[in-house]
Amino acid sequence: MPDPQALLRDVFGFDGFRPGQEDIVNAVTQGRNVLAIMPTGGGKSLCFQLPALLREGVTVVISPLIALMRDQVRGLQEAGVSAGALTSGNTPEETAAVWEALERGDLKLLYLAPERLAGGGAVAMFKRIGVRLIAVDEAHCVSHWGHDFRPDYLRIGELRRALDVPLAAFTATADQETRVEIVQKLFDGEAPQSFLHGFDRPNIHLAFAAKNNPRAQILSYAAARRGQSGIVYCGTRAKTEALAKALSDEGHNACAYHGGMEAEDRRIVETRFAREDGLVVVATVAFGMGVDKPDIRWVAHADLPKSIEAYYQEIGRAGRDGGPAETMTLFGPDDIRLRRSQIDEGQAPPERRAADHGRLNALLGLAEALKCRRQVLLGYFGESAEPCGHCDLCENPPETFDGTTAVRKALSAILRTEEWFGAGHLTGILTGTATDKIRARGHDLLPTFGVGKEYDKRQWAAIFRQMLGHDLVRPDPDRHGALRMTEAARPILRGEAGITLGKEAISRAATRTPAVR
Ligand code: ADP
Ligand code: ZN
Repeated sequence: MPDPQALLRDVFGFDGFRPGQEDIVNAVTQGRNVLAIMPTGGGKSLCFQLPALLREGVTVVISPLIALMRDQVRGLQEAGVSAGALTSGNTPEETAAVWEALERGDLKLLYLAPERLAGGGAVAMFKRIGVRLIAVDEAHCVSHWGHDFRPDYLRIGELRRALDVPLAAFTATADQETRVEIVQKLFDGEAPQSFLHGFDRPNIHLAFAAKNNPRAQILSYAAARRGQSGIVYCGTRAKTEALAKALSDEGHNACAYHGGMEAEDRRIVETRFAREDGLVVVATVAFGMGVDKPDIRWVAHADLPKSIEAYYQEIGRAGRDGGPAETMTLFGPDDIRLRRSQIDEGQAPPERRAADHGRLNALLGLAEALKCRRQVLLGYFGESAEPCGHCDLCENPPETFDGTTAVRKALSAILRTEEWFGAGHLTGILTGTATDKIRARGHDLLPTFGVGKEYDKRQWAAIFRQMLGHDLVRPDPDRHGALRMTEAARPILRGEAGITLGKEAISRAATRTPAVR
């Protein structure tokens, strides 16, 4: 059987599973009857698409939304998967192509609107083409309780019985009544394996902090949690070793872990971590797969993770026992620059790179959030929530200010210098600091020179960081990381939109020690 992780990466372009996906994928792949309730945007489609590739034969996907089916089919085809849809929206050519693929026996996923089941010949047809799994999207459509009952969904149960193949049902909305009805109608009342996934991990405290002296910040964080098991994630192998040493020097029981170590040494760390209390592992992302120590009390990120999914997975290793756990993620402009360039310099095709930038943006949005961090995080996974009271922002609501003018000044400095300079040089222009470089370029003669004197250097650094976080500017690797304006900034520049920035981040940045690396 193909390797799920490899397919996840190579076909779907994801580094890891979203919360809940792996268990569902395993159950569906093993041929269990499954009912999965996941929030919209949580990643349900992967939970039947991946098993469809792992299993023999054709998987039929029943979905009421033609646009959505066509979307998914296009996505799968672009990823090189043989998929097709038979819907009323098809051109005759599309329909012919689907039938040809079915006759050749190489179609893996066949999307169908429920109306297709009405004709009577469906069972015979499904038998003939070798259907081995039925996936039902928007399964609540089978219920009269729900708001969008679809009578044809009632035929799905019959179909399952006649074919005697496993069925996996997915929905985002399922109150108790609806769930009961889904089980009755689709599974003849025989309880399927059920997954009800909220993404919230309420025992995990969430916090981010601007990175200014990462070593000192991590050391003081660990010092306050002495004797507890924890993980420090770092962006590079060298950093894991340096930080592990610094922690050991301070009397912590700490060791490094990364993919460059001998397998034997890695295993020793894994075993020690599982057995010992209070070990701190300073690791790259290589540490994680298969770590299921229940009582990890804290996770710190010395560097920003690569995406919001990675962040969620990494902090999610804390507090599996349900006990209180704490997390803290450091981030700064260098992290953003590094993560962007990793995406830009990667080998992925353009659409995938755009998606990766999007997932990084989501994490930066979380880092620069101005309201409950858990709300923002869960919102990304499609779940709505009340302010949690258990994150840094709920505990210390950030002061905000209207940053529109500041951002416009910064953008103007960027454009006047034709997008060839980084935050340091731009800050010099804004604060009216005539450095040699500024004078040599004649930038002291620009109309923007000195227009941002109301903020000092550190405050501008915080503003630029938030601009990066909001994806208003991006460093261009072909211009030595010079900041360039993105489309998202245009409405602000034109005066069509405003932006609220965190003031706290600015004053905090102003009072802390400068970055030492
Ligand atoms: P749902 O059907 O649950 O509303 P989708 O299946 O459409 O959600 O997925 C929502 C988004 O999440 C899509 O953009 C998809 O690419 C993304 N996604 C799904 N699984 C993952 C994953 N494991 N890692 C990263 N992104 C994912
Ligand atoms: Zn909160």
